Amino acid sequence: MKPLSEKRALLKLRNLKNDFRAFIKQNFEHRAKDCQTCETKGACCLDAHFVNVHITHLEAVLIREELEKLSPEKQTEIYRRIAETIENYDLNSDGDSFQKTFACPLFEKGIGCLIHSVKPIPCIQHACYERKEDLPPDELQAETEEKIECLNTQTYKKFPRWLPLPVYLDSIKRG
Ligand code: SF4
Ligand code: SF4
Repeated sequence: MKPLSEKRALLKLRNLKNDFRAFIKQNFEHRAKDCQTCETKGACCLDAHFVNVHITHLEAVLIREELEKLSPEKQTEIYRRIAETIENYDLNSDGDSFQKTFACPLFEKGIGCLIHSVKPIPCIQHACYERKEDLPPDELQAETEEKIECLNTQTYKKFPRWLPLPVYLDSIKRG
């Protein structure tokens, strides 16, 4: 497998997410409820019984880059929210971490997802569909996440772990 610098891998990851978003938008999203007119905006991200978004190391670095575009004060607030989420929902890297759910600390009232352009693949794929048959197939997410695993392996020379989003972001935060 050809090695990749982290800088190059981040660019590839950003492009991969952009392509995936465009594909979902063009082929599926028009059959889903419009998030702009949703009367419970953010319910999907804040549902502590539903959200169990996991990411890899490379995605955590990309999200950190995105958060660094915010003011230092806002970044401090977000990382505090991340730490609180870990504590409140007892999140860690032990055992089957997919069993634990949490309200996502990256959702901001009045704005939405603070890392919209680089959000995780399940978040891009998720929308509210009335008919089950209109949902994007699970394989799409699986195929795209396999590509993300390859990018991680090429960059860090080992197969990546998937960890709850708050756990990874907390573990690689600067300072
Ligand atoms: S995904 Fe569903 S719950 Fe979330 S904002 Fe869109 S319509 Fe509302
Ligand atoms: S990363 Fe963004 S889209 Fe995904 S659950 Fe968190 S706030 Fe919602």
